[in-house]
Amino acid sequence: MLSTKMILARQVLCQGDFFLKGAGILLRGARILEVVPSLSAARRLARRSDAALEDKGPGLWSAGLVNAHAHLELTALEGVVPRLPFAPWVAALMQARMRIKRADLQKGLQQGADRLLATGTTALGDNDSLGLATGVLAVHPLRTRIWREALDAWDPKRTRAALRFARAPRRGTQTLAFGLAPHAPYTVSAALGRALARQASRRRVPISIHFAESLAEDQWMRRGSGPLARVLPASPGLSSLDHLERTGLLARRTALVHCNRVSASGIETIARAGATVVHCPQSHRFFRRSSFDARSWLDAGVVLALGTDSRASNWDLDMRAEMARMRVACSDLDPSEIWTMATEGGAHCLGWSQRLGRVAKGFQADLVQWDLTPRSRSGALEALTGSLPAVRRVLVAGREVCPGD
Ligand SMILES: [Zn+2]
Repeated sequence: MLSTKMILARQVLCQGDFFLKGAGILLRGARILEVVPSLSAARRLARRSDAALEDKGPGLWSAGLVNAHAHLELTALEGVVPRLPFAPWVAALMQARMRIKRADLQKGLQQGADRLLATGTTALGDNDSLGLATGVLAVHPLRTRIWREALDAWDPKRTRAALRFARAPRRGTQTLAFGLAPHAPYTVSAALGRALARQASRRRVPISIHFAESLAEDQWMRRGSGPLARVLPASPGLSSLDHLERTGLLARRTALVHCNRVSASGIETIARAGATVVHCPQSHRFFRRSSFDARSWLDAGVVLALGTDSRASNWDLDMRAEMARMRVACSDLDPSEIWTMATEGGAHCLGWSQRLGRVAKGFQADLVQWDLTPRSRSGALEALTGSLPAVRRVLVAGREVCPGD
């Protein structure tokens, strides 16, 4: 028998444009049954539904943040990899990772997930290239879509093994599911790309792929030149976008991570395909990239989400900091647009747009109570996106969770 409870809330930001002062959130098990727009009506409904009343005191309630892109397996590399341009940074990362013990990588995964929960993230899309994430995250309260990462570096001898890794395991839990992550156009051959696109379509799972991240990617993909030519075989001689279109990887179920170097016509093509885009503001800053043109993507009708990327290219794993960075770096955006990216946009990328990202009837009770007492919608959005508010409580699937419990 699922328990029913009514949370009495002083303020609730239900979604970007809907704010309530004095409300009740009725939960049964993991789901929100009803959002009641006054405290007295909430008390009455609680009596009628035989729901336990839970007055959690002052504080703003909202949907939990959704981190659409991370590599928690790299959390143990915190402070280890220097701040270098992209290609030498990747080389330094690979070397550093080989020196770290498996147990330390697992400990890092746990610590990264704890940090995300403690800072208000309740759902995560996490790239797994080592096969370590499932064991740790299956027993962690954070809701996760694990993207099984596949790459063959355009070497046909590696394609079969890459596919095998991406396929397993398939069985999730109430808060753990799987997706596919072709690593990037420059590391995923046409054969591997096609096989992964077919598999995602057959299994109806979302795809996440690093895309148009660096000049080095563009140079190698189109002409076989630049720093990646030293480590990769012959280039396909086409753009990253053409590669994705030809393999079937550019689809509605696809989240393109980074998109730092996309032309206006490329934005249109991606918008037509219905793919989503994940921007990682702090990682973007780490690599000193030129500004991300969020406005053009939004104007084209593309759903944008935010991610932290890994601790190897970020100073923290904190979606509040990503929103605050976005406020500074993309000052033409409204706070509500940034909030939507960090909640509903991320939910969309993870394939959970009908379940996460809002405080609404039928959605999962993934909720955060913030140490904020705003008087209005605009005050709530201003504080949430710009002030790194303290977290009072975190609920995932209706259960109050404590980081590290
Ligand atoms: Zn990444």
